[in-house]
Amino acid sequence: MSRKGNRAVPLPLVFPPRSGALKVLCLGAHSDDIEIGCGATILEFVRQGADVRWAVFSGDDRRAEEAARSARLFLGADARRRLMLHTFRDGYFPAQFAAVKEACEAVATAFQPDLVFTHFREDRHQDHRVLSDLTWNTFRRHLVLEFEVPKWDGDLSTPNLYVPVTVRAARRKVTLLTRAFASQRSKDWFGDGVFFGLMRIRGMECRSPSGFAEAFFGRKLVFRP
Ligand SMILES: [Zn+2]
Repeated sequence: MSRKGNRAVPLPLVFPPRSGALKVLCLGAHSDDIEIGCGATILEFVRQGADVRWAVFSGDDRRAEEAARSARLFLGADARRRLMLHTFRDGYFPAQFAAVKEACEAVATAFQPDLVFTHFREDRHQDHRVLSDLTWNTFRRHLVLEFEVPKWDGDLSTPNLYVPVTVRAARRKVTLLTRAFASQRSKDWFGDGVFFGLMRIRGMECRSPSGFAEAFFGRKLVFRP
């Protein structure tokens, strides 16, 4: 811990200086998972010039259109090149395990990331769990962080890695989410209150200066003093 004024704050871990852009890969089972789980963090990475790609594994035509629109909003004009879209059947990933695994491996061949964001291993949604397991199967030399998706199942847990985000990034995440995913607006859980509420709780837990944060599960971390 270090001290700032009279208040103890956690010592931050920062990525070391590097010659090229940080390569970040996000894996999401459905078209809005990545944005919900790590949208504000991604906005910050994009602002810093990171090379961010994302892969969405299911979706009909409408959801695919929304995924493309959201990628444009979060990643910028170059989004088409940065988005990998698959069309596995929503809700049936366990039954499509071999094909989803092959798709994961194809993503790893197309892009070699420094950092991978994926679903939480204990997420109760079957598609989320399969993708989380396959992430760890596929990316074995990478820093993997698991994001959280609040939902009916009530399966939130206790994360151990926090990314404080600015108020601006938190607001922009929620604005872009509601703008991009019109098909989800009728769902009772999809709304400002849930998204801001979770970021506010995680911000409180890590003493974020803005009050907001996103939180992750860093299951395996290497620390060099
Ligand atoms: Zn999902």
